[in-house]
Amino acid sequence: MKFEITYQSRKSRARVGKIYTAHGVIDTPNFVAVGTNGALKALDSKQVETIGLQLMFCNTYHLMLQPGTSKVKEAGGIHQFINRPLPIITDSGGFQVFSLAYGSVASELKSQGTKKTDGSVLKITEDGVLFRSYRDGKKILLTPESSIEAQKDLGADIIIPFDELPPYHIEKRALVESLERTHRWEKRSLEAHLKNPMHQSMYAVIHGGVDKELREKSCHTLRELPFDGFAIGGSVGKNKEEMIAMLTSTLPHLPYLAPNHLLGIADLPSIDACIPLGIDTFDSCYPTRSARHGCALSSRGNIHLTQGKYSSLFRPIDEECSCYTCKHYTVAYLNHLFKAKEISALTLTTIHNLHFMVKLMENYRESIYSGKI
Ligand SMILES: [Zn+2]
Repeated sequence: MKFEITYQSRKSRARVGKIYTAHGVIDTPNFVAVGTNGALKALDSKQVETIGLQLMFCNTYHLMLQPGTSKVKEAGGIHQFINRPLPIITDSGGFQVFSLAYGSVASELKSQGTKKTDGSVLKITEDGVLFRSYRDGKKILLTPESSIEAQKDLGADIIIPFDELPPYHIEKRALVESLERTHRWEKRSLEAHLKNPMHQSMYAVIHGGVDKELREKSCHTLRELPFDGFAIGGSVGKNKEEMIAMLTSTLPHLPYLAPNHLLGIADLPSIDACIPLGIDTFDSCYPTRSARHGCALSSRGNIHLTQGKYSSLFRPIDEECSCYTCKHYTVAYLNHLFKAKEISALTLTTIHNLHFMVKLMENYRESIYSGKI
Protein backbone atom coordinates (compact mmCIF):
# COMPACT_ATOMS: atom_id res chain seq x y z
CA MET A 1 0.00 0.00 0.00
CA LYS A 2 1.16 3.51 -0.76
CA PHE A 3 -0.32 6.74 0.59
CA GLU A 4 0.25 10.01 -1.17
CA ILE A 5 -0.88 13.42 0.05
CA THR A 6 -1.66 15.48 -3.03
CA TYR A 7 -2.76 18.65 -1.24
CA GLN A 8 -2.47 19.99 2.31
CA SER A 9 -4.87 22.69 3.41
CA ARG A 10 -3.30 25.91 4.69
CA LYS A 11 -6.35 26.60 6.84
CA SER A 12 -6.68 23.33 8.73
CA ARG A 13 -5.22 19.84 9.02
CA ALA A 14 -7.49 18.69 6.15
CA ARG A 15 -5.66 16.97 3.34
CA VAL A 16 -6.46 15.37 0.00
CA GLY A 17 -4.71 12.12 -0.75
CA LYS A 18 -4.67 8.79 -2.51
CA ILE A 19 -4.33 5.33 -1.01
CA TYR A 20 -3.00 2.86 -3.57
CA THR A 21 -3.95 -0.78 -2.93
CA ALA A 22 -3.65 -3.98 -4.96
CA HIS A 23 -7.31 -3.53 -5.98
CA GLY A 24 -7.24 0.12 -6.90
CA VAL A 25 -7.04 3.66 -5.57
CA ILE A 26 -9.01 5.24 -2.72
CA ASP A 27 -9.23 9.03 -2.90
CA THR A 28 -9.23 10.67 0.51
CA PRO A 29 -11.08 12.01 2.41
CA ASN A 30 -13.59 9.29 1.65
CA PHE A 31 -16.58 7.44 2.99
CA VAL A 32 -16.44 3.67 3.50
CA ALA A 33 -19.75 1.83 3.30
CA VAL A 34 -20.33 -1.18 5.53
CA GLY A 35 -21.22 -4.48 3.90
CA THR A 36 -21.30 -6.60 7.05
CA ASN A 37 -21.90 -9.97 5.39
CA GLY A 38 -19.96 -9.19 2.23
CA ALA A 39 -22.94 -7.31 0.80
CA LEU A 40 -24.27 -3.79 1.14
CA LYS A 41 -27.82 -4.52 2.22
CA ALA A 42 -30.28 -4.28 -0.71
CA LEU A 43 -27.53 -3.93 -3.36
CA ASP A 44 -25.27 -6.31 -5.22
CA SER A 45 -21.56 -5.72 -5.80
CA LYS A 46 -21.99 -4.57 -9.41
CA GLN A 47 -24.49 -1.85 -8.38
CA VAL A 48 -22.05 -0.67 -5.70
CA GLU A 49 -19.25 -0.54 -8.27
CA THR A 50 -21.40 1.55 -10.63
CA ILE A 51 -22.13 4.07 -7.87
CA GLY A 52 -18.37 4.56 -7.47
CA LEU A 53 -17.83 3.48 -3.86
CA GLN A 54 -14.06 3.07 -3.62
CA LEU A 55 -13.71 1.21 -0.31
CA MET A 56 -16.07 -1.25 1.34
CA PHE A 57 -15.95 -2.54 4.92
CA CYS A 58 -16.74 -6.21 5.64
CA ASN A 59 -17.03 -7.70 9.13
CA THR A 60 -14.80 -10.65 9.92
CA TYR A 61 -16.96 -11.71 12.88
CA HIS A 62 -20.06 -12.18 10.72
CA LEU A 63 -18.15 -13.87 7.89
CA MET A 64 -16.48 -16.21 10.40
CA LEU A 65 -19.90 -17.40 11.59
CA GLN A 66 -21.45 -17.48 8.10
CA PRO A 67 -20.29 -18.85 5.66
CA GLY A 68 -16.96 -19.33 7.52
CA THR A 69 -13.75 -17.66 6.36
CA SER A 70 -12.34 -20.97 5.06
CA LYS A 71 -15.29 -21.10 2.66
CA VAL A 72 -14.42 -17.60 1.40
CA LYS A 73 -10.80 -18.70 1.00
CA GLU A 74 -11.99 -21.72 -0.97
CA ALA A 75 -13.87 -19.33 -3.29
CA GLY A 76 -10.60 -17.50 -3.97
CA GLY A 77 -10.91 -14.76 -1.33
CA ILE A 78 -13.46 -12.08 -0.54
CA HIS A 79 -12.99 -10.08 -3.77
CA GLN A 80 -13.64 -13.18 -5.87
CA PHE A 81 -16.44 -14.48 -3.66
CA ILE A 82 -18.52 -11.29 -3.67
CA ASN A 83 -17.38 -10.24 -7.17
CA ARG A 84 -15.90 -6.90 -6.14
CA PRO A 85 -12.64 -6.02 -7.93
CA LEU A 86 -12.19 -2.83 -5.84
CA PRO A 87 -10.59 -2.27 -2.39
CA ILE A 88 -12.04 -3.92 0.72
CA ILE A 89 -11.21 -3.48 4.42
CA THR A 90 -12.02 -6.03 7.12
CA ASP A 91 -12.00 -5.61 10.90
CA SER A 92 -10.69 -8.06 13.49
CA GLY A 93 -14.00 -9.33 14.83
CA GLY A 94 -13.12 -7.91 18.24
CA PHE A 95 -15.57 -5.02 18.00
CA GLN A 96 -18.61 -7.29 17.65
CA VAL A 97 -17.44 -9.67 20.35
CA PHE A 98 -16.89 -6.85 22.85
CA SER A 99 -20.13 -5.14 21.86
CA LEU A 100 -21.84 -8.36 22.94
CA ALA A 101 -20.01 -8.14 26.24
CA TYR A 102 -20.61 -4.47 27.00
CA GLY A 103 -23.43 -3.45 24.65
CA SER A 104 -22.99 -0.58 22.24
CA VAL A 105 -21.66 2.71 23.59
CA ALA A 106 -25.14 4.22 23.07
CA SER A 107 -26.99 1.54 25.03
CA GLU A 108 -24.29 1.57 27.66
CA LEU A 109 -24.62 5.33 28.08
CA LYS A 110 -28.36 4.96 28.54
CA SER A 111 -27.84 2.37 31.25
CA GLN A 112 -24.91 4.24 32.89
CA GLY A 113 -22.77 1.13 32.66
CA THR A 114 -25.20 -1.08 34.54
CA LYS A 115 -26.27 -3.08 31.47
CA LYS A 116 -25.97 -6.81 31.99
CA THR A 117 -24.11 -8.73 29.31
CA ASP A 118 -26.02 -11.30 27.28
CA GLY A 119 -23.65 -14.06 28.33
CA SER A 120 -22.15 -14.60 24.87
CA VAL A 121 -18.65 -13.67 26.02
CA LEU A 122 -17.42 -16.46 28.24
CA LYS A 123 -13.89 -15.41 29.11
CA ILE A 124 -11.35 -12.66 28.36
CA THR A 125 -7.75 -13.73 28.97
CA GLU A 126 -4.30 -12.63 27.81
CA ASP A 127 -4.66 -15.16 24.99
CA GLY A 128 -7.93 -13.75 23.61
CA VAL A 129 -11.69 -13.92 24.00
CA LEU A 130 -13.82 -17.03 24.31
CA PHE A 131 -17.38 -16.43 23.13
CA ARG A 132 -20.44 -18.34 22.09
CA SER A 133 -21.68 -18.09 18.51
CA TYR A 134 -25.15 -16.57 18.31
CA ARG A 135 -25.82 -18.82 15.32
CA ASP A 136 -25.26 -22.28 16.72
CA GLY A 137 -24.04 -21.85 20.31
CA LYS A 138 -20.57 -23.16 19.43
CA LYS A 139 -17.69 -21.88 21.57
CA ILE A 140 -15.15 -19.84 19.60
CA LEU A 141 -11.78 -18.55 20.82
CA LEU A 142 -10.81 -15.35 19.07
CA THR A 143 -7.15 -14.44 19.50
CA PRO A 144 -4.86 -12.02 17.65
CA GLU A 145 -3.52 -14.97 15.66
CA SER A 146 -6.93 -16.50 14.82
CA SER A 147 -8.33 -13.09 13.84
CA ILE A 148 -5.42 -12.53 11.45
CA GLU A 149 -5.74 -16.06 10.07
CA ALA A 150 -9.42 -15.33 9.35
CA GLN A 151 -8.49 -12.01 7.71
CA LYS A 152 -5.86 -13.83 5.60
CA ASP A 153 -8.58 -16.23 4.44
CA LEU A 154 -10.72 -13.25 3.44
CA GLY A 155 -7.80 -11.42 1.79
CA ALA A 156 -9.06 -7.82 2.08
CA ASP A 157 -6.67 -5.01 1.11
CA ILE A 158 -6.65 -3.40 4.55
CA ILE A 159 -6.88 -5.46 7.73
CA ILE A 160 -7.18 -4.56 11.41
CA PRO A 161 -5.36 -6.06 14.41
CA PHE A 162 -7.28 -7.69 17.23
CA ASP A 163 -8.05 -5.21 19.99
CA GLU A 164 -10.20 -4.87 23.08
CA LEU A 165 -13.10 -2.48 23.09
CA PRO A 166 -13.46 -1.33 26.70
CA PRO A 167 -16.77 0.24 27.74
CA TYR A 168 -17.16 4.03 28.06
CA HIS A 169 -17.80 3.73 31.79
CA ILE A 170 -14.53 2.31 32.99
CA GLU A 171 -12.14 3.22 35.77
CA LYS A 172 -8.80 4.66 34.76
CA ARG A 173 -6.84 1.70 36.12
CA ALA A 174 -8.95 -0.79 34.16
CA LEU A 175 -8.62 1.38 31.04
CA VAL A 176 -4.84 1.42 31.40
CA GLU A 177 -4.79 -2.37 31.74
CA SER A 178 -7.05 -2.75 28.72
CA LEU A 179 -4.87 -0.38 26.69
CA GLU A 180 -1.70 -2.26 27.53
CA ARG A 181 -3.31 -5.59 26.65
CA THR A 182 -4.64 -4.13 23.39
CA HIS A 183 -1.11 -2.97 22.50
CA ARG A 184 0.22 -6.49 23.16
CA TRP A 185 -2.62 -7.99 21.06
CA GLU A 186 -1.96 -5.53 18.23
CA LYS A 187 1.75 -6.37 18.25
CA ARG A 188 0.93 -10.11 18.10
CA SER A 189 -1.52 -9.40 15.24
CA LEU A 190 1.14 -7.48 13.31
CA GLU A 191 3.66 -10.28 13.80
CA ALA A 192 1.14 -12.83 12.52
CA HIS A 193 0.37 -10.60 9.53
CA LEU A 194 4.04 -10.00 8.65
CA LYS A 195 4.70 -13.75 8.47
CA ASN A 196 2.55 -13.74 5.34
CA PRO A 197 1.75 -10.17 4.25
CA MET A 198 0.15 -11.23 0.91
CA HIS A 199 -1.08 -7.99 -0.74
CA GLN A 200 -2.52 -6.75 2.56
CA SER A 201 -1.79 -3.67 4.69
CA MET A 202 -2.54 -3.37 8.38
CA TYR A 203 -3.84 -0.32 10.26
CA ALA A 204 -3.13 -0.08 13.98
CA VAL A 205 -6.08 0.83 16.20
CA ILE A 206 -5.46 3.74 18.57
CA HIS A 207 -7.20 3.34 21.93
CA GLY A 208 -7.38 5.20 25.23
CA GLY A 209 -11.05 6.17 25.41
CA VAL A 210 -11.48 9.90 26.01
CA ASP A 211 -8.32 10.10 28.11
CA LYS A 212 -5.96 12.52 26.35
CA GLU A 213 -2.78 11.09 27.86
CA LEU A 214 -3.72 7.49 27.12
CA ARG A 215 -4.60 8.32 23.51
CA GLU A 216 -1.24 10.04 23.15
CA LYS A 217 0.51 7.06 24.71
CA SER A 218 -1.34 4.74 22.31
CA CYS A 219 -0.17 6.79 19.30
CA HIS A 220 3.44 6.76 20.47
CA THR A 221 3.44 3.03 21.25
CA LEU A 222 1.84 1.96 17.98
CA ARG A 223 3.70 4.33 15.66
CA GLU A 224 6.93 2.59 16.71
CA LEU A 225 5.66 -0.56 14.98
CA PRO A 226 5.57 -1.00 11.17
CA PHE A 227 1.82 -0.45 10.68
CA ASP A 228 0.70 0.95 7.31
CA GLY A 229 -1.98 3.28 8.71
CA PHE A 230 -3.88 4.16 11.87
CA ALA A 231 -7.50 3.76 12.84
CA ILE A 232 -9.07 5.59 15.75
CA GLY A 233 -11.09 3.07 17.75
CA GLY A 234 -12.49 2.43 21.18
CA SER A 235 -14.91 4.76 22.85
CA VAL A 236 -14.64 8.14 21.13
CA GLY A 237 -16.87 9.92 23.64
CA LYS A 238 -20.44 10.38 24.75
CA ASN A 239 -21.11 13.23 22.32
CA LYS A 240 -19.65 15.06 19.34
CA GLU A 241 -17.84 17.66 21.46
CA GLU A 242 -16.00 14.98 23.38
CA MET A 243 -15.09 13.18 20.15
CA ILE A 244 -13.80 16.36 18.50
CA ALA A 245 -11.74 17.27 21.56
CA MET A 246 -10.24 13.76 21.61
CA LEU A 247 -9.44 13.78 17.87
CA THR A 248 -7.99 17.30 18.02
CA SER A 249 -5.48 16.26 20.64
CA THR A 250 -4.83 12.75 19.27
CA LEU A 251 -4.30 13.22 15.53
CA PRO A 252 -1.13 15.39 15.78
CA HIS A 253 0.55 12.42 17.49
CA LEU A 254 0.10 10.16 14.46
CA PRO A 255 2.62 10.07 11.59
CA TYR A 256 1.63 12.72 9.06
CA LEU A 257 2.48 10.55 6.07
CA ALA A 258 0.21 7.62 6.99
CA PRO A 259 -3.51 7.33 6.28
CA ASN A 260 -5.88 7.40 9.21
CA HIS A 261 -9.42 6.10 9.63
CA LEU A 262 -12.22 6.93 12.06
CA LEU A 263 -13.91 3.65 12.99
CA GLY A 264 -17.70 3.47 12.90
CA ILE A 265 -18.52 7.19 12.64
CA ALA A 266 -19.77 8.84 9.44
CA ASP A 267 -22.89 10.84 10.19
CA LEU A 268 -22.88 14.09 8.21
CA PRO A 269 -22.11 16.54 11.07
CA SER A 270 -19.23 14.33 12.26
CA ILE A 271 -17.71 14.11 8.77
CA ASP A 272 -17.98 17.88 8.47
CA ALA A 273 -16.27 18.40 11.83
CA CYS A 274 -13.57 15.76 11.38
CA ILE A 275 -12.27 16.49 7.87
CA PRO A 276 -10.58 19.74 9.05
CA LEU A 277 -8.96 17.70 11.84
CA GLY A 278 -7.23 15.53 9.23
CA ILE A 279 -9.33 12.33 9.16
CA ASP A 280 -8.86 10.53 5.83
CA THR A 281 -11.58 7.84 5.84
CA PHE A 282 -14.82 7.22 7.73
CA ASP A 283 -16.98 4.09 7.89
CA SER A 284 -20.55 3.78 9.04
CA CYS A 285 -23.73 1.91 8.20
CA TYR A 286 -25.64 5.19 8.73
CA PRO A 287 -26.41 6.08 5.06
CA THR A 288 -27.46 2.55 4.09
CA ARG A 289 -29.42 1.93 7.29
CA SER A 290 -31.23 5.29 6.97
CA ALA A 291 -32.17 4.36 3.42
CA ARG A 292 -33.83 1.16 4.59
CA HIS A 293 -35.82 3.22 7.09
CA GLY A 294 -37.09 5.47 4.31
CA CYS A 295 -34.72 8.35 4.98
CA ALA A 296 -33.14 9.84 1.86
CA LEU A 297 -30.08 12.06 2.34
CA SER A 298 -30.09 15.40 0.61
CA SER A 299 -28.02 18.56 0.73
CA ARG A 300 -31.16 20.37 1.91
CA GLY A 301 -31.74 18.00 4.83
CA ASN A 302 -33.01 14.44 5.14
CA ILE A 303 -36.25 13.49 3.42
CA HIS A 304 -38.46 11.00 5.24
CA LEU A 305 -39.98 9.30 2.22
CA THR A 306 -42.72 7.55 4.16
CA GLN A 307 -44.41 10.80 5.26
CA GLY A 308 -47.90 11.34 3.83
CA LYS A 309 -46.98 14.74 2.39
CA TYR A 310 -44.73 13.04 -0.15
CA SER A 311 -47.45 10.90 -1.73
CA SER A 312 -48.01 13.54 -4.43
CA LEU A 313 -44.47 14.82 -4.93
CA PHE A 314 -43.87 13.84 -8.53
CA ARG A 315 -40.25 14.95 -8.54
CA PRO A 316 -37.00 13.11 -7.82
CA ILE A 317 -35.46 13.16 -4.33
CA ASP A 318 -32.98 15.73 -5.62
CA GLU A 319 -33.34 17.41 -9.04
CA GLU A 320 -29.57 17.81 -9.24
CA CYS A 321 -28.70 14.26 -8.21
CA SER A 322 -27.42 12.13 -11.09
CA CYS A 323 -28.06 8.78 -9.38
CA TYR A 324 -30.06 5.98 -10.99
CA THR A 325 -32.98 6.49 -8.61
CA CYS A 326 -33.28 10.25 -9.14
CA LYS A 327 -32.94 9.79 -12.90
CA HIS A 328 -35.82 7.31 -13.09
CA TYR A 329 -38.22 7.69 -10.14
CA THR A 330 -40.19 10.25 -8.16
CA VAL A 331 -40.55 10.73 -4.42
CA ALA A 332 -44.25 9.87 -4.74
CA TYR A 333 -43.40 6.50 -6.25
CA LEU A 334 -40.81 5.79 -3.52
CA ASN A 335 -43.39 6.81 -0.91
CA HIS A 336 -45.79 4.29 -2.45
CA LEU A 337 -43.14 1.53 -2.56
CA PHE A 338 -42.36 1.99 1.15
CA LYS A 339 -46.04 1.96 2.08
CA ALA A 340 -46.67 -1.14 -0.05
CA LYS A 341 -43.58 -2.75 1.56
CA GLU A 342 -41.95 -3.38 -1.82
CA ILE A 343 -38.30 -4.50 -1.57
CA SER A 344 -37.29 -2.16 -4.42
CA ALA A 345 -37.94 0.79 -2.07
CA LEU A 346 -34.89 -0.27 -0.04
CA THR A 347 -32.72 -0.79 -3.12
CA LEU A 348 -33.63 2.51 -4.78
CA THR A 349 -33.17 4.59 -1.62
CA THR A 350 -29.86 2.88 -0.79
CA ILE A 351 -28.59 3.65 -4.31
CA HIS A 352 -29.43 7.32 -3.79
CA ASN A 353 -27.88 7.57 -0.31
CA LEU A 354 -24.67 5.86 -1.36
CA HIS A 355 -24.40 8.06 -4.44
CA PHE A 356 -25.00 11.07 -2.17
CA MET A 357 -22.06 10.01 0.04
CA VAL A 358 -19.75 9.45 -2.95
CA LYS A 359 -20.57 12.95 -4.29
CA LEU A 360 -20.38 14.52 -0.81
CA MET A 361 -16.82 13.25 -0.39
CA GLU A 362 -15.86 14.43 -3.89
CA ASN A 363 -17.16 17.87 -2.90
CA TYR A 364 -15.12 17.83 0.32
CA ARG A 365 -11.95 17.03 -1.65
CA GLU A 366 -12.82 19.88 -4.02
CA SER A 367 -13.42 22.26 -1.07
CA ILE A 368 -10.02 21.42 0.41
CA TYR A 369 -8.33 22.05 -2.95
CA SER A 370 -10.10 25.36 -3.37
CA GLY A 371 -9.12 26.55 0.11
CA LYS A 372 -12.61 26.53 1.66
CA ILE A 373 -11.64 23.98 4.35
ZN1 LIG B 1 -30.31 10.51 -6.24
